[in-house]
Order: sequence, then C-alpha cells, then structure tokens
Amino acid sequence: MLIVEDEPRYLESTRLLLAQHVQAIDTAITAGQSFALLMQNSYDLALLDLHLPDGNGHEIMAYIREHQPDCRVIIASGDSQIDAAIKSLRMGAYDYLRKPYEPEDLINTVRNVVRKLELERENVRMAQQIEQSEQWHRLLVNTSPDVIYTLDARGRFTYLNDSIQRTLGFMPGELVGRDYTTIISHDQAETAQHHFNERRTGERATRNFELLLRRKDDLLSSLTERTSDQRIVVELSSMGMYRPARMGLGMGEFLGTYGVARDISARKQAEATITFQAYHDLLTGLPNRSLFKDRLGQAMVHAKRHGQTMATLFLDMDHFKVVNDTLGHLVGDGLLQALAQRLRDCLREGDTLSRIGGDEFMLLLPHIRSRDNAAYIAQKIISSLKQPFYVEGHELYAGMSIGIAIYPDDGDNIETLIKHADIAMYHAKDHGRNDYKFFTQDLHKSFTGRLAIENEMRHALEKKEFEVFYQPQVAVESQRVRGMEALVRWNHPTRGIVSPTDFIPIAEECGLITPISEWVMDEACRQAQLWRSDVLPKISMAINLSARQIEHPQFVEKFMHCLRQHVPDGHGIEIEITESTLMRDIDGAISKLRKLADMGVEISIDDFGTGYSSLSYLKKLPINTIKIDRSFIHDLTGHMNNGSTIVAGIAAMAKGLNLKVVAEGVETQEQLDYLKSLGCDIYQGFFYSRAVNAEAATEILTRNQA
Ligand code: C2E
Ligand code: MG
Ligand code: MG
Repeated sequence: MLIVEDEPRYLESTRLLLAQHVQAIDTAITAGQSFALLMQNSYDLALLDLHLPDGNGHEIMAYIREHQPDCRVIIASGDSQIDAAIKSLRMGAYDYLRKPYEPEDLINTVRNVVRKLELERENVRMAQQIEQSEQWHRLLVNTSPDVIYTLDARGRFTYLNDSIQRTLGFMPGELVGRDYTTIISHDQAETAQHHFNERRTGERATRNFELLLRRKDDLLSSLTERTSDQRIVVELSSMGMYRPARMGLGMGEFLGTYGVARDISARKQAEATITFQAYHDLLTGLPNRSLFKDRLGQAMVHAKRHGQTMATLFLDMDHFKVVNDTLGHLVGDGLLQALAQRLRDCLREGDTLSRIGGDEFMLLLPHIRSRDNAAYIAQKIISSLKQPFYVEGHELYAGMSIGIAIYPDDGDNIETLIKHADIAMYHAKDHGRNDYKFFTQDLHKSFTGRLAIENEMRHALEKKEFEVFYQPQVAVESQRVRGMEALVRWNHPTRGIVSPTDFIPIAEECGLITPISEWVMDEACRQAQLWRSDVLPKISMAINLSARQIEHPQFVEKFMHCLRQHVPDGHGIEIEITESTLMRDIDGAISKLRKLADMGVEISIDDFGTGYSSLSYLKKLPINTIKIDRSFIHDLTGHMNNGSTIVAGIAAMAKGLNLKVVAEGVETQEQLDYLKSLGCDIYQGFFYSRAVNAEAATEILTRNQA
C-alpha cells in the first residue's frame, strides 16, 4: 500500500493505524516522492491526499490508472467540496474519505479493499483451474478409444466425443440433437429401448450390455447391399442423470443418461471365427463331428417329445484314397469340396450335413415320415453322383456308400445311432459300393466281428498267431519252381485261418501293419536262408510291402538290418509293391528303392494293371518284374477277349522294357497255355499250388529238385 500525505504527523499515525491490516506500506509526503515510488513498485492500494505541496492527488491518480490499473485508490481529503469527491469517483477511485475521518472508517474501508482483492484473486485462480481441468477432460474424452456420450431425457444426443467418427463414421455434430435410435441396428431397437427406460425409472447402477450399431455408410446404403461388416458391436455401460431431489427425498427429475460404448466388433469377429473353427470342417465349411452330435442330440429330444421319426445317414466315398494317392491332396481336397456342394444340393432346409473325417460325411434328416423318405434321399444322392466332377483339369467320378439308421428303431441315443449307420455303411461297401443299406440287427453281429479283429490283432503277434505261407512261382516253359511268394496268414484261435485281405487293411488303418510286416520280413528272410543252406536250388523269395511300411522313415535301415542278419548278399530277395503304393509318393519311393536295389534286392510291381501306371514312371524305377493282376488272368477264357488283349499288351510292353513278367492267379491249363503263347516267364496260381505253410513248401521244393 502506498500512503501519500503531506502532513508528516498525520501520515505516521495513519501508517501505524493500518500497519496491522496491510502487509507492507510505503509512504510519501510529496507528489514527486509518490511518482518515484510508483515508478519502482507496484501497489494493490493507494491512499491519496488530494492537496499536496507540489501537485494534487488527481494527478497521482491519473498516473496510477494509466500505469497500475489494478491498484485501488482511496482518496482522503479535507476538501469538503462535493466536486472533488465526484471527480475522484469518476476517475475510478474505490472510495472517498473525508478528513478528518474516524479511524474505524479508514480501517473498514481498507479492509474491504483487501478482502475484495483476495476474493478476486481466488476467483482468477479458480477460473484458471477450471479452465485447465476442462482442457484435460476434453483431451481425455476425445482421445478415448471409447465413444462417450450424453442423451437428454427424450433420448436425443447432447454430446458425443470424437470417437464416434472412428467408430461409426459420423461427426459428433451430425448426431447431436438426433434420437439415439438413429444408430441402433433395427433388430436391437427393443433392447436399446429397454435399457434406456431402465435408466429413466431409476435403475442407476451402471451395467454392461452389448448392442449392435449401424455405421453411417450402412444407414445410407440400401437394404440389399448391406453387409455384416458395416455393423458394429459395442459393449455399453450407461447411467441415468437426475436433478438432485429436494431434501434428499425420493428421486430427482430424470435429465437423461450418459455412457461409454466400446467397439468390440473385432473381438466378436475373432470369437465367431474361433467358434466356427471349433464346430466346422474348414475345408468344406460343413459342421464337424461335434456340431453334428450336438444337432443330433437336439433333434432327438424334439423327435422324442413329438413322437417323430428321423434318419441318420453315414456316407463314405468309395475309393477316395486312390484319388488322393494318385492325383495328390490338392485334387483330393478339391473333390471333397465339390462333393460337399453336390450333397448340399440334395438336401432340404433343416437337414444337417457334416463332414466327420477324411471322406466320411454324416447326414441328419430330422423330419421323415417313413424309411422310404430316407431311402429316397440316399438314392437321390447316389444318382446325383452319376455326373462327373471336374477338379484341377481332371474328370472324376465319386461313388458313395451310404448306411442308414432310423430313430428310434435302430437306436435311441447319439452314439448308437451313429455306430449303426456306420455299420450299415460298411455293409453297403461290401455289397459292391455306390449303394445304400439300412441297418439291421444281423449287421450288428458281423460288424462287431470287425471291431473284434482290430482288438485281437493287437495281441496276435505276441501270441504267435501269425504264420507265413509260401506260394510257388513257376517257370512257364520248364514247369520248375523259380521262387516263392511269402503270404502272411493269421491262425485265429476261433475263426481259423484269416486271409490277409481281411486284416491287412485294418492293420494299415490302426498302425499295426508296421510290427506285423517287420515280423513277416524277418520270417521270410530267415526261411529263404534256411532253404539255401539246405542246398535247395537257388530260388527267390518275394515279400509284399505295404504303403505305410515304405513310408516309414526308417524303412530302408530296417530292411537292411533284416537282410544283414539272414541274407547278407541280398541275393534272391524280391519285394512286391503295388502300383498305388508307388504312386503315393513316387519321389520318396524311387530313392528308397534305389538303395535296396544297390543291396541286390529285386523289385516287382504287384497287381499290375489295376492302378494308373504309365510307362514314363516305370522307366524311372529300378524295376525287375511286373506281376499281371489275377483279375486279368481270370478273364482269360479261351477265345480272345478284353482280358487277353490286356495281358498280351502288358506282356509285350514288359518285353520291350526288358522286364520279367509274372502272371498271378493261374487256375487252369487253358490260361497257362495262353500265357505260354505270349512268351510269359513265370506264373503263380492254384493250378500249380496254393500258398502253403513252410513245411509243405519245403516238400514242394525238395520234389522240384529231384
Ligand atoms: P498278392 O500279393 O497279389 O498275392 C496274391 C494273392 O492271390 C494271394 O492271396 C494268393 O493266395 C492269391 N492267389 C494265388 N493264386 C491264386 C489263384 O490261382 N486264384 C486266386 N483266386 N487267388 C490266388 P492272399 O494270400 O490272400 O493275399 C492277398 C493280398 O494280401 C496279397 O496280394 C498281398 O497284397 C497282401 N499280403 C499278403 N501277405 C502280405 C504281407 O506279408 N505283407 C503285406 N504288406 N501284404 C500282404
Ligand atoms: Mg504279392
Ligand atoms: Mg498280386
């Protein structure tokens, strides 16, 4: 504070009087002194005497107005003229005191000024604080990835942050004033309304719920071009806003709601994909086994309640493995996709088609009136497959074997129905394929036989139930035995001798083929060496190899190990591989077979003519022998026909490639004569001998030697 007073005593007493109410006081007794002080310091308050020896208070006041506009001025003067007072106030004086004044008046006036100043400063500080917090708030709200909004009591937007643009494509201004239902997906209007009303009636608690919103482009596009990715799923929590109730009683007036909505479309999409993958086959997009079972279960509950009949069909593609093995997985996959589509086309809405494994499908027909209905659908499917499929430039035909089980006749639970349809399908396969069969109780018995085989086979090796039989390979010209083919048999304790055609495919499926084959290999090589050391003629030993066996990474090592043990020079050992086995992985097979050939092992192509062999790949392989499949020999009946043309062709081709020809399945003199006329080298068949056990084979060889 600055006090200007030309009367020193008066000045001092005033200073003392105010000292305890003001922080710091400067004093001046002349106008000159006061200007000097005002130039150096700034003051909050000045008490000015109007009459000064070297000027007057109004001049000082004018200076203060100009240079320190925040400084309050109180004029004190003995001048009783009203003009001076008015002039002072007009110039902006805060107050005017007439001398002589009561000390209390002065003190009160000064205290008022101080108090007011303090209030003003507090105000400014608060305003700044508010401004800053508002800036913070705006930043937080607008940079939030979530949509933040307020609605008025009628549900119109009053505020939206910038996120609305990222999320739905609207500028906040485009929505303010519009009803919230503008952006709600139509089918969710009711849900949204429900939640809004809940807030209105005082359900204050915030709660998360999901809503489907519409993007701006969705709003603008017509119904037909609407796509699902224009829909946004948000997780929303909202609260009601109320005017404070009077005296804290009851609920205040509803002002609207505010809330936060988070875009969870990406998460929903990911969840949907995961769920889809968990319940669908990705190649065909069809429901998988678990979803099928689920649907079957539901349909069963429904059928039970309404006393309805339904059908479960088990569909298995015929010879799919051949397509996969010979033309590759790409073609196999393409065929499965095309097949799935064709099957779909045969169905009605409500039917469930599912792919449950490789080439296996299941079909649920929940509404059938009779078995005929199911038969009709099965027949429709089989007929639809008469048209070829075109995959990757190949024309392919797919046959299907279909088994049908009816609820409730053939089973009243999921597992039984599926199992029985499966059994019926096997029956259809046994009966020439590309057909359908209904389940019957008799089938059940024979099928449990098949399952039992798998189980029993697991123990057959350790129980020494396998035995190798030998079938002579005979020279067509001289009728002398040139070799033996090792053919495995299973001496089953109750079934008797089981043929390899009955158990080798099952062994391949369940992986038991490896130990069984290894045992056969070992046994045959041991027997070969035994015969040779008995000074029997140097006959060859042919051993059959399955695809799984060759594909085994250690196949070559295992074979060599076996040879080293029994037949170190490898001489006279022959392996038989079927065409389709070779074609499965031709490059892998070539390198493996070369290694064996280097050991002195000979290689035959078994069942030649049944696969898709071509000369071009035969030349790539280290092959010595071709075995003409017995089906062609079987067709040789006297005169020239289809079978004989093929046999003649194969024989001529083999001669051209300098390969040995072995004819399988020779049963008659007639067949033998014909083979002789073609210049065939070796034959094998019941005509000479069936496959016999080691003892009988030894006898044949001994006789042959004589
Ligand atoms: P494959 O290698 O083509 O064997 C020839 C099959 O024809 C043998 O049947 C044999 O008994 C039969 N056969 C021989 N002569 C005649 C005949 O004059 N008329 C008729 N109708 N059939 C005749 P088998 O022993 O039942 O073997 C069937 C198939 O099982 C074999 O066909 C072979 O692919 C496979 N196999 C047999 N033993 C083994 C083995 O140890 N390992 C592997 N991986 N497969 C084997
Ligand atoms: Mg064979
Ligand atoms: Mg054969």
